[in-house]
Amino acid sequence: MRRALVAAACGAAVTVAARRVARFRPPEVTPEPPDLEGLDADAAAGRLAELVRIPTISSRDPAEMDADAFGAFRERLTTLYPGTHRALDREVLGDGALLYRWRSGTDLPPMVLMAHYDVVPVAGQDWSRDPFSGLIEDGVVHGRGAIDDKGALVAILEAVESLVAAGFTPARDVYLSFGNDEEVFGVGAQLAVETLTSRGIRPWAVLDEGGAVVSGVFPGVAGQTAVVGLAEKGLLDVELITTDAGGHASAPARGGAPARLARAILRIEDHPFPARLHDVVLGMVDALGRHAPTGYRALFAHAEYLRPALARVLSRASREANALVRTTVAITQLEGSKARNVLATRARAHANIRIALGETVESTVDHLRRVIDDPDVELHVVGGNDPSPVSRADNEAFALVGAAVRSVYPDAAVAPYVMVQASDSRHFSQICDSVYRFMPFDLSRSELAALHAADERISVAALHRGAGFYRYLIRHL
Ligand SMILES: [Zn+2]
Repeated sequence: MRRALVAAACGAAVTVAARRVARFRPPEVTPEPPDLEGLDADAAAGRLAELVRIPTISSRDPAEMDADAFGAFRERLTTLYPGTHRALDREVLGDGALLYRWRSGTDLPPMVLMAHYDVVPVAGQDWSRDPFSGLIEDGVVHGRGAIDDKGALVAILEAVESLVAAGFTPARDVYLSFGNDEEVFGVGAQLAVETLTSRGIRPWAVLDEGGAVVSGVFPGVAGQTAVVGLAEKGLLDVELITTDAGGHASAPARGGAPARLARAILRIEDHPFPARLHDVVLGMVDALGRHAPTGYRALFAHAEYLRPALARVLSRASREANALVRTTVAITQLEGSKARNVLATRARAHANIRIALGETVESTVDHLRRVIDDPDVELHVVGGNDPSPVSRADNEAFALVGAAVRSVYPDAAVAPYVMVQASDSRHFSQICDSVYRFMPFDLSRSELAALHAADERISVAALHRGAGFYRYLIRHL
């Protein structure tokens, strides 16, 4: 009798699980046809190339900044996009952040489209082409900023220019917020937030750089996936410092400053932060898992109950997947004695840390102190910020981003995710609960790897689809 009851219970559980897997399918959506009217792919590529040629390289050192290049860039925009500059109001904030307003004639909360026009330096990188030539070759625009983030800036302006030319007026105001210092300070974006706040404006939604349309990054999902960032990890810079009496290198004592520092670094390495599957990553597994083959689907359909196991699987799957599930620590700088034959009186390591959602600057520093477990290792917080709040994914704004994606990438699965880098959009979280991080470009692995590295480039076709994405988005606000 008891055995029969157990068998019946097991049978019922298997049936429930099987039903769950059977229901675990992608939502049925019919993408609307792409709207590429008035968009000229080659002309857009030519305009991007012109803007790539202006070396708007940002630096923490004001003496290294070429203010003329930034001025020339802003000026060139007015001639490349004359219709936009006639139809929209434009303000220059601070040292050169741009804030445009496209009036709708309604008082609905506005949409904010973001990009930045400063780029990271190219020094020390081995480029196969001149990074500031704006060369267009075999359907590809080459150069620093081609994707990050002049590509997005151009795609936005191509969409706006084409709609202005057609006499279109958006259903709600559209702001374009183009930062001039995203790669260093992000002051431009802060000024944009302060400006909107001072006018009592709270955006309906904000869209900035972040995820992209990628292939083959999620286990078992072969097709395209568009990952839209709902949040970004926190950023923390910490110096580890050890000190010592020093002296002549011919008579060293055991456990000098560099040795103690090395031990601290190894302890951090040996005690990684815990891997956890945050709700946002669970949402990603849910959205993408539905596109996986049956075996994987059976696993992903029960992701909620398998959080610890899935977190472990992801942490081992790849560096990128690992970064999604835990706080990461990168030791980026090491310093000891200045001379070859002098013992170090001070050794220093710089740790660049990306804080997982659910943790804070404080809890991260506590963890480091605990695992280093050495009162002689000084921890000095250089700067940092907690992870951003998580934006909503159950609202019209997120649905619209998904529809705009499918209009140009009809086969792509749309999923939320956590951005592991920092973006200007984090400042907008103060005034908006729908801040999304997504670049509407389909990028290969090697194109992604070229961000902040040598041979950054974008295909003319991806740029064209990106413009179509923004066009759809603006038309359906
Ligand atoms: Zn960027």
